[in-house]
This record gives sequence, structure tokens and C-alpha cells, in this order.
Amino acid sequence: MNQAAHQAIEKAAGRDNYSSSRAMRILFAEDATNRGAHPPEAVVRGTHETQIARVLKACSEHQVPVVPRGAGSGQTGGAIPVAGGVVLDLAGLDRIISLSRPDQVAVVQPGVVTGQLQKAAAEQGLFYPPDPSSADFCTIGGNVAENAGGLRAVKYGVTRDYVMGVRAITPTGEIFETGGANIKSVVGYDLSKLLVGSEGTLAVFTRLTLRLIPKPEAVATLSGYFKDLTGAARAVQELLSSGIVPTACEFMDRLGLKVVGEYGGVEVPDGAEALILVDIDGPPEVIRRQAGQAAEILSHAGGEPVKVADDAEQAAALWKARKVLSQSSYQLGPNKLNEDVAAPLGRLADLVRMVRGISKRHGLPIVVFGHAGDGNLHVNTMYDASDPEQSTRAHEARSDVFAAALSLGGTLSGEHGVGTTKLGPAGAEIDPVALMLMHRIKKAFDPAGILNPHKALPPL
Ligand SMILES: Cc1cc2nc3c(=O)[nH]c(=O)nc-3n(C[C@H](O)[C@H](O)[C@H](O)COP(=O)(O)OP(=O)(O)OC[C@H]3O[C@@H](n4cnc5c(N)ncnc54)[C@H](O)[C@@H]3O)c2cc1C
Repeated sequence: MNQAAHQAIEKAAGRDNYSSSRAMRILFAEDATNRGAHPPEAVVRGTHETQIARVLKACSEHQVPVVPRGAGSGQTGGAIPVAGGVVLDLAGLDRIISLSRPDQVAVVQPGVVTGQLQKAAAEQGLFYPPDPSSADFCTIGGNVAENAGGLRAVKYGVTRDYVMGVRAITPTGEIFETGGANIKSVVGYDLSKLLVGSEGTLAVFTRLTLRLIPKPEAVATLSGYFKDLTGAARAVQELLSSGIVPTACEFMDRLGLKVVGEYGGVEVPDGAEALILVDIDGPPEVIRRQAGQAAEILSHAGGEPVKVADDAEQAAALWKARKVLSQSSYQLGPNKLNEDVAAPLGRLADLVRMVRGISKRHGLPIVVFGHAGDGNLHVNTMYDASDPEQSTRAHEARSDVFAAALSLGGTLSGEHGVGTTKLGPAGAEIDPVALMLMHRIKKAFDPAGILNPHKALPPL
């Protein structure tokens, strides 16, 4: 950035909302991906729409890259300013503008923390189902940009299913609105859905209209340990085809169980190869009956022991294995490559077996867990990044995990997006003609290519 660019962008942002200090540049150099820092040349605090539009216009005119940022909890480097330029901090736009019970719609600014919206909706007897594990700190803007998933996707879908309308600004500074509070609307192309998952590369969201639904009355929780993977996979398949639609259906493999047993204070039965955890929500009398049926399905597939929680405390005890897993897994290595591949439901056991083979081949521990009910597994390769030889093996293992997922008809990312970390491998997944169309769409929104460059789209 030259002096003229600094001055123009500072003027557009307002002096109090602009900083090129070393401290601010360091603060905004990284996100939760933890794979190296790239300090921006300046940080702008977004305060309102016309200010953001002015900033984007100035950046466009001076060919300065701009990276929108929510809470920086992304796992694929989406908010890292890899090309320098400006980080546009949107976390301060954190107002819930309206929450309408009759319309079952919330209108929010992008910096609203997901958990705050969930709470505000619950106070009105409503429910915002998308529930990434980062809900306590990530923002709705980041969720929409990444099409965030989470635990409840089996029954309720992902962020995309709740985005009804978007107000946004193009990289050239034009404010526009798409969609709105209507459940049905087929007028024009559905730009709202196009913006979902665009990873901050097409437009900056300034207001989001989100669908809410009635709050479920109660939740039942059950779990089952399995001595073999085939039984666990059968339990999931039978549960999902039984007519019961679980809210969550989570899986943990034997290595995950070993670490939570040894370091997480969880009692794990000897010889356990897999754990299946299930939540079912709805009216109390229905979920009681369905929890009983689900327990039978798990037992029939070989689950031993199968436990149904009687109250919230017991439910929390069953979920403990999953909650302490991430922290406990660092006992296997100080660093992790955390990937979120997905595969068709019928191929999940194959994917887990293939990952076991990859772990053996590269001599590194790989923990597999995640959302068995929607086919999205987290595959965490644990290693020591200070050892170059181990680092090389870990990255080779990661490439093999991607290849394994694709060979099963799966995908490189079920919820974390491409960002910068999956740009290379994503080229192998996206159809070449589809990729060309995606680049044309990017060009239509962002002719100068300044908005979050080198993210989401592999080069042609
Ligand atoms: C412990 C932990 C658990 C997690 N669990 C889950 C999970 O269960 N499911 C899941 O899907 N993800 C999960 N994540 C990943 C992450 O929380 C999500 O990707 C989340 O959506 C990112 O939100 P954010 O506000 O932190 O966005 P950031 O990281 O700040 O940004 C993410 C992307 O969104 C863009 N962006 C942000 N705001 C805007 C805006 N207003 N307009 C346009 N673009 C914007 C950025 O440019 C960037 O490309 C987890 C992360 C952590 C650290």
C-alpha cells in the first residue's frame, strides 16, 4: 500500500476506525487455522454501511486487497490477509436488529455472535438451529460466509437453510439487497444462496435475514460403545432409516476414545472401537419413546453398553467424551492438521478404515470423530511441527485423507470451507467447467479482484 492508498482509506474509514500500528497489524494477522501469520498493512473497523461502502470503493480505486473478518475462528485461513492490504473488522456490528415471533425471522448485523442469537431466539420460544461448536464466539457473518455446519445438521441442516436474505456491499462499494422475510420467493436468481459459502470473496455482508423455527420442547440423549466399526456403522444406518430423525448423531473412533479415557477423565469400556452419541428432540412423550427405540437399534447392532440419559446431568456426562476430545488429543502431538472431509453415509466405515491405513503408513496418530449422521468426519492428524520430517509426513497423510474421501465420492470439506489451506486439493474436486463459471461469477462481483484474494477458488 502506498501513501496515497493509506490516506484515501483512512479518510474513508474515519481516523478513529483506521490503524496501521504494529500492534493492530499483529492482532489481525492470523485466525484459528494456526498455520502462520500474515500481518495486514492496515486494519479498518467497520462501523456502518456507508462507511464500509466508502472503504471498499477506496480500496478498489487503489487496488488494495480487503479481507472481511468476523471473530477469526475460521479453520481454513479465510480471514488471513495473505496478500496484505486491509483487514475489515466487522465484529463491532453486533446488533440484533429485530426478532419477529409472528414472522419467525431474525434480522441481524454480521458481527452478532451465533450463541447470542440462539439465546435471544430461545427467550421468544424460537430456535436458531445452526450450532457450530464455536457458537460461543463465532459470528453470523462468518457462519454465512462459510456456510457453517455443526452438530444439529442431521435434522436441521446447515446455515444455508436459514439464510433468507442478505444485505451486502460489492467490492466496488455498491450496496445491494437480495431475498428477504418471505419463506417462498422465486423472483430473480437466488443471490442470497450464492453468497452463502462465498468465503468473503464476493461481497461484504452488512445485514442478514435468518429463518427461525419453534423451539423443540425437550431433548433426549443416548450413547453406545461398539467393539467393532461395522457394528457402529450399522447402528447409524439403521437409526437413520428407522423413521427417527436424530438432532445429532456423533461418532468417535478408538484413538479418540483412548485419549479421552487416558487424559479426559472419561470411563471408556475395554476394547471399545467406536462411540455413537445421539440426541433426539421434540415433545417429551415422543422423544422418550424414540430414545427407547434408538437404544434398541444401537444394542441390536452390537452397542455395549448403551445408555439413555434420565436428565440433563446424565446427558452432559454422556457428551463429555466428545467435549474433552479436542483438548485431550494434543497429548498425541503438539500440533494438528484438522480436516473436515465428508462422504456419502454408506461409505463412512470405509473412510474410517482408509484413514487407519493412512495413519499406519505415515506412522502418525490420526483421530477420527464427527458428525456421522450427515457424513462429515473430522480427521485430525497429530504431529510435531518443529520436526520437519514429521511435518512432511503429516502433510502427506493429509493429502492421502483428501484422496481417500474423493475416491469414495466424498468432499474435501463438509463445513470449514476451502480458504487458503485447501486451494490446491480443491482443484481436484471441482468440475473444470463449474470452476470456470465460478471464476466468472467472482469477476462479475469483483472486477479488480480485491476482495479476499487467493481464497476459496483454486486457480483455473
Ligand atoms: C473451536 C472451534 C470449533 C469450530 N466448530 C465448528 C463447527 O462445528 N462447524 C463449523 O462449520 N465450523 C466450526 N468452526 C470454524 C469457524 O468457527 C466457522 O467457520 C465460523 O463460521 C467462522 O466465523 P467467524 O466469525 O470466526 O469468521 P472469520 O473466521 O472471521 O471469517 C471466516 C470467513 O468469513 C468471511 N467473513 C466474515 N465476516 C464476513 C462478512 N460480514 N461478510 C463477508 N464475509 C465475511 C471472512 O472473510 C472469512 O473468509 C470451529 C472453529 C473453532 C476454532
